[in-house]
Amino acid sequence: MTRFPSAAAPQASRAAREPESRARESEPPSSPLIQVRGLRKSYRTARGAIDLFKDLDLEIATGELVAIVGQSGAGKSTLLHILGALDAPTAGTVLCAATDVTQLNASQAAAFRNREIGYVWQFHYLLPEFTARENVAMPLLARGQRRAEALAEADRWLGEVGLTDRGEHRAGELSGGEQQRVALARALVCRPRLLLADEPTGDLDSTTAGLVFELIERLHAGHGLTSILVTHNQELAMRCTRALRLTGGRLVEVPVDGNNVSVAETSPQKSTVSLTM
Ligand code: ADP
Repeated sequence: MTRFPSAAAPQASRAAREPESRARESEPPSSPLIQVRGLRKSYRTARGAIDLFKDLDLEIATGELVAIVGQSGAGKSTLLHILGALDAPTAGTVLCAATDVTQLNASQAAAFRNREIGYVWQFHYLLPEFTARENVAMPLLARGQRRAEALAEADRWLGEVGLTDRGEHRAGELSGGEQQRVALARALVCRPRLLLADEPTGDLDSTTAGLVFELIERLHAGHGLTSILVTHNQELAMRCTRALRLTGGRLVEVPVDGNNVSVAETSPQKSTVSLTM
């Protein structure tokens, strides 16, 4: 299902004029934006219960660019969905952007997502019949912003992702890398605090993946974002400010300095683990 991140709150006019210079000076860089305690998630299936997390704990500070790695089926996407109020845990507390997302009803969760979260997925989920600028403007239109303003803001964001000259192109006419750049512009057009990206480069060739990651890095730094990136790409994970491996239902810190990662996946409390995915 396509979900557009959009914000309910009106934008500050200065920020609307100056997307590049926007900073979140109200928060010290080290204050945690995310605090997860005792997280559990169980699915009941015809073949028995799946217990994904074992009292998983997580703390992410404002401004971190965090990679989450782990084998397929480990629960990375589910974790991202819970953090972003798209899914509910079975147990535990999830404080995200000063909100206990486990306590939100459906409309509160939608408002929270609109206000705080920008999502990017492996597949761009742009609407192919609409132009790039219309796709980017859509979250603003969805919250009632006037069309001319929304399109002007979309144009600014297309500039930010280097696609000024592609605004009138239909999404279906763009390359994979361009589509993902448009998706990033759409994710950020409502100025969320948190960027959640689920395999954003997973459908791209390695060169394009590197370029899209560089763009994420630049947007992350330039807009004071806190970003979480689920990825199978070891090289890109190593370029984040922090990497965590989801294994055995818990998160394990992975050193990101020096690319010198050795294999020791036995103890979830130790910090040296494999990035093999
Ligand atoms: P990852 O992103 O690490 O590949 P996911 O979070 O997508 O893992 O899924 C983790 C596990 O949970 C998988 O085994 C998946 O089949 C299972 N799962 C996810 N959603 C559901 C669901 N709605 N019902 C049953 N099982 C599910």
